[in-house]
Amino acid sequence: MIIVIKNNTDKAQVDNLIDWVKSQGLSVNVSVGQEQTVLGLIGDVSSIDIDLVRGLSVVENVMRISEPYKNANRKFHPDDTIVEVENATVGGKDFAIIAGPCSVESKEQICEIAIAVKQAGATMLRGGAFKPRTSPYDFQGLRGDGIELLLEAKKLTGLPIVTEIMDLSQLELFNDVDVVQVGARNMQNMELLKALGRTKKPVLLKRGLSSTLKELLMSAEYIMAGGNGNVILCERGIRTFETATRNTLDISAVPALKEFTHLPVIVDPSHASGIARYVAPLTYTAAAAGAHGVMIEVHNNPSAALCDGAQSLTPDEFAEVVTKTNAVLEALK
Ligand code: PEP
Ligand code: MN
Repeated sequence: MIIVIKNNTDKAQVDNLIDWVKSQGLSVNVSVGQEQTVLGLIGDVSSIDIDLVRGLSVVENVMRISEPYKNANRKFHPDDTIVEVENATVGGKDFAIIAGPCSVESKEQICEIAIAVKQAGATMLRGGAFKPRTSPYDFQGLRGDGIELLLEAKKLTGLPIVTEIMDLSQLELFNDVDVVQVGARNMQNMELLKALGRTKKPVLLKRGLSSTLKELLMSAEYIMAGGNGNVILCERGIRTFETATRNTLDISAVPALKEFTHLPVIVDPSHASGIARYVAPLTYTAAAAGAHGVMIEVHNNPSAALCDGAQSLTPDEFAEVVTKTNAVLEALK
């Protein structure tokens, strides 16, 4: 962070400011130029309230030059983080394929889909038990029973399971869940993030509908600050002026996040587009852009799905997407 001092400020006032900065545990590099005096703050400035400093009478401007996210910062950890989930990994050179229905509907449904996606090459099984639906009159998920059914599908296939938590009060139901998903709507539920930070469980953190990449990284920082470094980031489309698709896939988020952070970055082409026939091209795009994986909604009978049928692939369509995605990855090696 640098602080630009207003012209004609008394030296005594500048010295006061320097003393205050030092009292915050930082060191200060003072540069007295012809035009301006600039203070360069060195150290962990994340506890400094930038608006408070900007409001001081002697301060012309304040600029942050070291990102507020520390644990998540690539500068603090040059190598990619690889999150281990049982026999699967996310991050580094591997390409994770998480697949399954939007929501768990029945034992037959989740087991049939789990077997099909495993056969097609999925590395993890997804399925919502707690569903954050826009309308309170829509199917809300099977809740605890949904998690039990996911565990049965896991027993059947060996696929680790990924499912969304919506509230802190549900945490103990997630003891046997392999990856806890924090959905777009909860990306800034700070108490939930802090609680997940106190666990060692892998967390799949989805980007909020209108969140910047920096906000996403700060949410990851909440989890990591508590001691849990097992965070997977997910670009799932953001809200823009475009209405032709459910959301707008921000594909630039992939290379940008990979530059800013060492955490794995995956893409959800299903929620990004909302349209099943766009899922294949967006998946290939994600693979080509360097994503560490994708999360795709698959249903054995999309037209009868209780949630998000329009964006769900059939198992056969999914199998074709996996084959072609592997070809894209191979071509780019
Ligand atoms: C989901 O993955 O089931 C989901 C609800 O996604 P999002 O939070 O990205 O809307
Ligand atoms: Mn869905």
